[in-house]
Amino acid sequence: MSGWRCDGVTFRYPEAEVNALEGVSMEAPAGGCTAVLGPNGSGKSTLLRILLGTLMAEAGTAEFDGRRLTAWSRPELARAVGVVPQGEEAAFPIAVRELVAMGRYPHLGPWRREGAADRRAVEEAMRRCDVSDFAARPVATLSGGERQRARVARALAQEPRALALDEPTAALDVSHEMAIWELLRHLARAGTTVLVVTHNLNLAARYADRLVLLHRGRVAAAGTPAQVLTRDTVERVYGWPVRVVPHPGPGPDAGAPQVVPLAGEACGTIQLREEEGHAA
Ligand code: ADP
Ligand code: MG
Repeated sequence: MSGWRCDGVTFRYPEAEVNALEGVSMEAPAGGCTAVLGPNGSGKSTLLRILLGTLMAEAGTAEFDGRRLTAWSRPELARAVGVVPQGEEAAFPIAVRELVAMGRYPHLGPWRREGAADRRAVEEAMRRCDVSDFAARPVATLSGGERQRARVARALAQEPRALALDEPTAALDVSHEMAIWELLRHLARAGTTVLVVTHNLNLAARYADRLVLLHRGRVAAAGTPAQVLTRDTVERVYGWPVRVVPHPGPGPDAGAPQVVPLAGEACGTIQLREEEGHAA
Protein backbone atom coordinates (compact mmCIF):
# COMPACT_ATOMS: atom_id res chain seq x y z
CA MET A 1 0.00 0.00 0.00
CA SER A 2 1.50 3.30 -0.94
CA GLY A 3 0.58 6.90 -0.32
CA TRP A 4 -0.17 8.19 3.18
CA ARG A 5 -1.99 6.36 5.87
CA CYS A 6 -2.55 6.96 9.54
CA ASP A 7 -4.34 5.03 12.24
CA GLY A 8 -5.62 6.32 15.54
CA VAL A 9 -3.36 9.36 15.60
CA THR A 10 -3.62 11.50 18.71
CA PHE A 11 -1.55 14.63 19.25
CA ARG A 12 -1.51 17.48 21.76
CA TYR A 13 0.71 20.55 21.58
CA PRO A 14 2.72 21.26 24.74
CA GLU A 15 0.69 23.53 27.05
CA ALA A 16 -2.50 23.05 25.00
CA GLU A 17 -5.58 22.07 26.96
CA VAL A 18 -7.13 19.81 24.36
CA ASN A 19 -5.81 17.38 21.79
CA ALA A 20 -5.28 18.91 18.34
CA LEU A 21 -5.90 15.43 16.88
CA GLU A 22 -7.86 12.65 18.54
CA GLY A 23 -7.86 9.13 17.11
CA VAL A 24 -7.49 10.23 13.50
CA SER A 25 -7.41 7.47 10.88
CA MET A 26 -7.29 8.35 7.21
CA GLU A 27 -5.55 7.55 3.98
CA ALA A 28 -4.37 9.39 0.89
CA PRO A 29 -3.81 6.66 -1.70
CA ALA A 30 -0.95 6.88 -4.18
CA GLY A 31 -1.82 8.36 -7.52
CA GLY A 32 -4.92 10.10 -6.20
CA CYS A 33 -5.86 13.57 -5.00
CA THR A 34 -7.06 13.67 -1.40
CA ALA A 35 -8.33 16.90 0.13
CA VAL A 36 -8.36 17.59 3.87
CA LEU A 37 -11.17 19.94 4.87
CA GLY A 38 -12.43 21.38 8.13
CA PRO A 39 -13.11 24.62 10.00
CA ASN A 40 -10.30 26.83 11.31
CA GLY A 41 -8.45 25.07 14.09
CA SER A 42 -9.89 21.63 13.30
CA GLY A 43 -6.41 20.10 13.00
CA LYS A 44 -5.69 20.14 9.26
CA SER A 45 -2.17 21.59 9.46
CA THR A 46 -1.36 19.41 12.47
CA LEU A 47 -2.41 16.30 10.54
CA LEU A 48 -0.19 17.37 7.65
CA ARG A 49 2.78 17.83 10.02
CA ILE A 50 2.20 14.33 11.40
CA LEU A 51 2.10 12.92 7.87
CA LEU A 52 5.33 14.75 7.02
CA GLY A 53 7.09 13.49 10.12
CA THR A 54 7.68 16.96 11.55
CA LEU A 55 5.44 16.15 14.52
CA MET A 56 5.29 12.76 16.23
CA ALA A 57 1.97 11.23 17.18
CA GLU A 58 1.56 10.44 20.87
CA ALA A 59 -0.66 7.51 20.03
CA GLY A 60 -1.34 5.80 16.74
CA THR A 61 0.81 5.40 13.66
CA ALA A 62 1.48 7.35 10.48
CA GLU A 63 3.16 5.98 7.39
CA PHE A 64 4.16 7.03 3.91
CA ASP A 65 4.56 4.46 1.15
CA GLY A 66 4.22 1.61 3.59
CA ARG A 67 6.87 2.77 6.09
CA ARG A 68 6.43 4.54 9.40
CA LEU A 69 7.40 8.20 9.15
CA THR A 70 9.86 7.58 11.97
CA ALA A 71 11.73 5.12 9.70
CA TRP A 72 12.37 7.68 6.94
CA SER A 73 15.56 9.70 6.99
CA ARG A 74 15.12 13.43 6.37
CA PRO A 75 16.97 13.44 2.99
CA GLU A 76 15.05 10.38 1.81
CA LEU A 77 11.72 11.97 2.62
CA ALA A 78 12.80 15.28 1.07
CA ARG A 79 13.43 13.54 -2.25
CA ALA A 80 10.09 11.74 -2.15
CA VAL A 81 7.70 14.43 -0.90
CA GLY A 82 7.29 18.04 -2.04
CA VAL A 83 5.78 20.35 0.55
CA VAL A 84 4.01 23.70 0.33
CA PRO A 85 3.53 24.76 3.97
CA GLN A 86 0.75 27.05 5.10
CA GLY A 87 1.46 30.76 5.16
CA GLU A 88 4.67 32.61 4.67
CA GLU A 89 8.09 31.67 5.76
CA ALA A 90 10.35 34.75 5.88
CA ALA A 91 10.78 36.09 2.35
CA PHE A 92 14.38 35.25 1.48
CA PRO A 93 16.27 38.05 -0.28
CA ILE A 94 16.50 35.94 -3.41
CA ALA A 95 15.04 35.87 -6.91
CA VAL A 96 12.10 33.69 -7.88
CA ARG A 97 14.26 31.36 -9.93
CA GLU A 98 16.55 30.76 -6.95
CA LEU A 99 13.57 30.02 -4.73
CA VAL A 100 12.23 27.49 -7.23
CA ALA A 101 15.73 26.00 -7.66
CA MET A 102 15.78 25.29 -3.89
CA GLY A 103 13.40 22.47 -4.77
CA ARG A 104 16.35 20.72 -6.44
CA TYR A 105 18.53 20.67 -3.28
CA PRO A 106 17.55 17.15 -2.20
CA HIS A 107 18.66 15.87 -5.62
CA LEU A 108 21.96 17.71 -6.04
CA GLY A 109 25.22 15.81 -5.81
CA PRO A 110 27.96 16.45 -3.26
CA TRP A 111 29.20 19.55 -5.10
CA ARG A 112 25.73 21.12 -5.15
CA ARG A 113 26.08 22.02 -8.81
CA GLU A 114 22.97 22.23 -10.97
CA GLY A 115 23.01 20.01 -14.04
CA ALA A 116 20.93 20.19 -17.20
CA ALA A 117 18.19 18.01 -15.69
CA ASP A 118 17.97 20.32 -12.67
CA ARG A 119 17.68 23.40 -14.86
CA ARG A 120 14.98 21.73 -16.97
CA ALA A 121 12.97 20.81 -13.87
CA VAL A 122 13.17 24.39 -12.60
CA GLU A 123 12.11 25.93 -15.93
CA GLU A 124 9.26 23.45 -16.30
CA ALA A 125 8.00 24.07 -12.75
CA MET A 126 8.07 27.86 -13.30
CA ARG A 127 6.19 27.47 -16.57
CA ARG A 128 3.51 25.29 -15.04
CA CYS A 129 2.94 27.75 -12.19
CA ASP A 130 3.02 30.77 -14.51
CA VAL A 131 5.95 32.49 -12.78
CA SER A 132 8.52 32.37 -15.64
CA ASP A 133 7.88 36.03 -16.44
CA PHE A 134 9.20 37.17 -13.09
CA ALA A 135 11.96 34.58 -12.65
CA ALA A 136 14.52 37.35 -11.99
CA ARG A 137 12.38 39.39 -9.56
CA PRO A 138 13.19 39.30 -5.83
CA VAL A 139 10.63 37.12 -4.05
CA ALA A 140 9.93 39.94 -1.59
CA THR A 141 8.54 42.16 -4.39
CA LEU A 142 5.86 39.64 -5.49
CA SER A 143 2.19 39.88 -4.62
CA GLY A 144 0.83 37.27 -2.21
CA GLY A 145 -0.61 35.23 -5.06
CA GLU A 146 2.54 35.39 -7.17
CA ARG A 147 4.66 34.31 -4.22
CA GLN A 148 2.29 31.44 -3.53
CA ARG A 149 2.67 30.21 -7.12
CA ALA A 150 6.45 30.43 -6.78
CA ARG A 151 6.25 28.27 -3.63
CA VAL A 152 4.20 25.67 -5.50
CA ALA A 153 6.77 25.81 -8.31
CA ARG A 154 9.54 25.10 -5.79
CA ALA A 155 7.73 21.93 -4.68
CA LEU A 156 7.16 20.86 -8.31
CA ALA A 157 10.80 21.46 -9.24
CA GLN A 158 11.61 18.75 -6.73
CA GLU A 159 9.79 16.27 -9.02
CA PRO A 160 8.55 14.41 -5.96
CA ARG A 161 6.37 11.33 -6.07
CA ALA A 162 4.04 12.91 -3.53
CA LEU A 163 2.96 16.47 -2.84
CA ALA A 164 1.54 17.89 0.38
CA LEU A 165 0.08 21.39 0.15
CA ASP A 166 -1.45 23.43 2.97
CA GLU A 167 -3.99 25.90 1.57
CA PRO A 168 -1.98 26.44 -1.62
CA THR A 169 -4.63 28.57 -3.32
CA ALA A 170 -5.53 30.77 -0.36
CA ALA A 171 -4.30 34.03 -1.91
CA LEU A 172 -4.97 33.29 -5.57
CA ASP A 173 -7.44 34.84 -8.02
CA VAL A 174 -9.92 32.56 -9.78
CA SER A 175 -7.85 31.76 -12.85
CA HIS A 176 -4.68 31.01 -10.92
CA GLU A 177 -6.62 29.03 -8.35
CA MET A 178 -8.21 26.94 -11.09
CA ALA A 179 -4.84 26.51 -12.79
CA ILE A 180 -3.32 25.08 -9.60
CA TRP A 181 -6.22 22.63 -9.18
CA GLU A 182 -5.96 21.56 -12.83
CA LEU A 183 -2.26 21.03 -12.26
CA LEU A 184 -2.89 18.95 -9.13
CA ARG A 185 -5.38 16.75 -10.97
CA HIS A 186 -2.97 16.36 -13.86
CA LEU A 187 -0.14 15.36 -11.50
CA ALA A 188 -2.37 12.89 -9.66
CA ARG A 189 -3.41 11.26 -12.93
CA ALA A 190 0.24 10.95 -13.89
CA GLY A 191 0.83 9.01 -10.65
CA THR A 192 1.77 11.65 -8.05
CA THR A 193 0.15 11.26 -4.65
CA VAL A 194 -1.50 14.60 -3.88
CA LEU A 195 -2.65 15.65 -0.43
CA VAL A 196 -4.08 19.14 -0.23
CA VAL A 197 -5.52 21.09 2.68
CA THR A 198 -8.12 23.57 1.53
CA HIS A 199 -11.10 25.68 2.61
CA ASN A 200 -12.59 25.54 -0.85
CA LEU A 201 -15.20 22.81 -0.43
CA ASN A 202 -16.51 23.24 -3.95
CA LEU A 203 -13.21 22.95 -5.76
CA ALA A 204 -12.19 20.06 -3.51
CA ALA A 205 -15.45 18.34 -4.50
CA ARG A 206 -14.62 18.81 -8.17
CA TYR A 207 -10.93 17.97 -8.17
CA ALA A 208 -10.24 15.56 -5.31
CA ASP A 209 -11.08 11.86 -5.49
CA ARG A 210 -11.36 11.61 -1.72
CA LEU A 211 -12.19 14.08 1.02
CA VAL A 212 -11.30 13.90 4.70
CA LEU A 213 -13.38 16.30 6.78
CA LEU A 214 -11.95 17.18 10.19
CA HIS A 215 -13.97 18.57 13.08
CA ARG A 216 -12.34 19.42 16.42
CA GLY A 217 -9.43 17.10 15.77
CA ARG A 218 -11.52 14.11 14.70
CA VAL A 219 -12.56 12.75 11.33
CA ALA A 220 -16.18 13.83 10.88
CA ALA A 221 -16.51 12.17 7.46
CA ALA A 222 -14.27 10.64 4.80
CA GLY A 223 -14.90 9.23 1.35
CA THR A 224 -16.00 10.49 -2.03
CA PRO A 225 -17.17 14.12 -2.33
CA ALA A 226 -20.79 12.93 -2.56
CA GLN A 227 -20.40 10.89 0.64
CA VAL A 228 -18.77 13.68 2.62
CA LEU A 229 -20.46 16.88 1.43
CA THR A 230 -24.00 16.22 2.50
CA ARG A 231 -26.12 19.03 3.86
CA ASP A 232 -26.33 17.45 7.33
CA THR A 233 -22.61 16.91 7.66
CA VAL A 234 -21.60 20.34 6.37
CA GLU A 235 -24.16 22.14 8.57
CA ARG A 236 -23.09 20.20 11.64
CA VAL A 237 -19.35 20.67 11.13
CA TYR A 238 -19.39 24.31 9.99
CA GLY A 239 -22.41 25.45 11.99
CA TRP A 240 -24.00 27.29 9.10
CA PRO A 241 -27.09 26.53 7.00
CA VAL A 242 -26.31 25.41 3.47
CA ARG A 243 -27.80 23.77 0.44
CA VAL A 244 -25.88 21.19 -1.54
CA VAL A 245 -26.59 21.29 -5.28
CA PRO A 246 -25.07 19.39 -8.21
CA HIS A 247 -22.54 21.26 -10.31
CA PRO A 248 -24.49 22.23 -13.45
CA GLY A 249 -21.64 21.54 -15.87
CA PRO A 250 -20.46 21.54 -18.54
CA GLY A 251 -17.18 19.78 -17.82
CA PRO A 252 -15.87 16.50 -16.47
CA ASP A 253 -17.09 17.32 -12.98
CA ALA A 254 -20.75 18.04 -13.80
CA GLY A 255 -22.86 16.73 -10.93
CA ALA A 256 -20.19 17.18 -8.24
CA PRO A 257 -21.75 18.37 -4.96
CA GLN A 258 -21.49 22.14 -4.55
CA VAL A 259 -22.07 23.75 -1.18
CA VAL A 260 -24.06 26.99 -1.18
CA PRO A 261 -24.15 28.74 2.21
CA LEU A 262 -27.46 30.50 2.82
CA ALA A 263 -27.68 34.17 3.68
CA GLY A 264 -29.96 36.80 5.14
CA GLU A 265 -33.54 35.84 5.82
CA ALA A 266 -33.13 32.28 4.53
CA CYS A 267 -30.32 31.78 6.97
CA GLY A 268 -32.24 33.25 9.92
CA THR A 269 -35.36 31.15 9.30
CA ILE A 270 -33.37 27.99 9.00
CA GLN A 271 -31.42 28.59 12.17
CA LEU A 272 -34.67 29.26 14.02
CA ARG A 273 -36.28 26.13 12.64
CA GLU A 274 -33.25 24.06 13.62
CA GLU A 275 -33.25 25.41 17.15
CA GLU A 276 -36.89 24.35 17.50
CA GLY A 277 -36.26 20.99 15.87
CA HIS A 278 -33.27 20.15 18.00
CA ALA A 279 -34.89 21.44 21.21
CA ALA A 280 -31.39 22.29 22.38
P1 ADP B 1 -6.13 24.13 11.09
O1 ADP B 1 -4.94 23.96 10.23
O2 ADP B 1 -7.25 23.17 10.82
O3 ADP B 1 -6.65 25.54 11.13
P2 ADP B 1 -4.27 23.52 13.24
O4 ADP B 1 -3.84 22.12 12.96
O5 ADP B 1 -3.33 24.61 12.87
O6 ADP B 1 -5.71 23.77 12.59
O7 ADP B 1 -4.58 23.64 14.78
C1 ADP B 1 -5.33 22.67 15.49
C2 ADP B 1 -5.42 23.11 16.96
O8 ADP B 1 -4.12 23.10 17.53
C3 ADP B 1 -5.96 24.51 17.14
O9 ADP B 1 -6.74 24.52 18.31
C4 ADP B 1 -4.72 25.35 17.30
O10 ADP B 1 -5.00 26.48 18.09
C5 ADP B 1 -3.78 24.40 18.01
N1 ADP B 1 -2.37 24.66 17.65
C6 ADP B 1 -1.85 24.72 16.41
N2 ADP B 1 -0.53 24.94 16.45
C7 ADP B 1 -0.20 25.04 17.75
C8 ADP B 1 1.03 25.26 18.47
N3 ADP B 1 2.20 25.41 17.83
N4 ADP B 1 0.97 25.29 19.84
C9 ADP B 1 -0.20 25.13 20.48
N5 ADP B 1 -1.39 24.90 19.89
C10 ADP B 1 -1.38 24.86 18.54
MG1 MG C 1 -3.93 25.25 8.97
